[in-house]
Amino acid sequence: MTASNPVPTIALNNDTSIPQLGFGVFKVDPPETERIVTDALEVGYRHIDTAAAYENEGGVGAALKASGIARDELFITTKLANPRQTQASAAFEESLEKLSLDYVDLYLIHWPTPERDTYVQAWKELETIAESGRAKAIGVSNFLVPHLQRLFEETSIVPAVDQIELHPAYQQPDVTSFAHEHGIHIEAWGPLGQGKYDLLELPQITEAAAAHGKTPAQIVIRWHLQRGNIVFPKSNRRERMAENFDVFDFTLTDAELGAITALERGGRVGAHPNELN
Ligand code: NAD
Repeated sequence: MTASNPVPTIALNNDTSIPQLGFGVFKVDPPETERIVTDALEVGYRHIDTAAAYENEGGVGAALKASGIARDELFITTKLANPRQTQASAAFEESLEKLSLDYVDLYLIHWPTPERDTYVQAWKELETIAESGRAKAIGVSNFLVPHLQRLFEETSIVPAVDQIELHPAYQQPDVTSFAHEHGIHIEAWGPLGQGKYDLLELPQITEAAAAHGKTPAQIVIRWHLQRGNIVFPKSNRRERMAENFDVFDFTLTDAELGAITALERGGRVGAHPNELN
């Protein structure tokens, strides 16, 4: 955090650090991505989460380049597409090229896809990429405890993060506590439940919003931040990007945090990691 940038950073397990709040571009249309990421950078975001599978790395790269923001002020994550798990190095080169970058800050295996049984092979290639310095950190996404355990048994580097579906109705306490025990930070995807349930209308959220003079989305983002999650809520609308960034001038009480945490109900809104291929 600096005077001009209110976002705290979190130290990862390999001497790098990540801005705790970023901007995600899942389902951002490729032709609109440059404009939308430009808006996000102007609002103040410096951490962008994309993926080869989103097919918008080119637009992200164009926005980064046009922004003129120094590379070391940016934190860029991309992810290995599932069908490329046996060709991770080539896929990584393609991502760098589309992003017009020499390195990414974080490179992730997007899904474990256990049916393919190639994530261990992919991770070994990511280890080589990390050793080359062209991914400052490497991690995984949608990995459950058995997938992480298998990496521990068969490979060398402990993932820096596990990016999993996580929002008040679906908090994955088993993965989260296992990851924390091993020094792996949790990135919460779908932090607002992807707008797929009535999260922002629940009284535990709206009452806290009224008490702090903030919006329900700001309350949910604040809950994530105070729980230690790394988040990158997505919106195509600049006013919502600004709203989602304006979360550093208030603190939820322990009672408010507890009431939101009690909303857990096993309410997954995305795919099950063992089923997505
Ligand atoms: P999200 O929870 O961020 O929800 C986004 C939706 O919430 C928007 O489309 C909008 O409808 C709504 N919204 C945003 N701001 C709002 C506001 N202030 N008020 C009211 N509604 C608001 O869902 P997401 O985009 O799926 O997740 C965030 C990021 O996580 C993605 O963009 C992507 O980078 C990442 N992600 C990763 C995976 C993975 O498998 N690793 C999967 C999904 C998402």
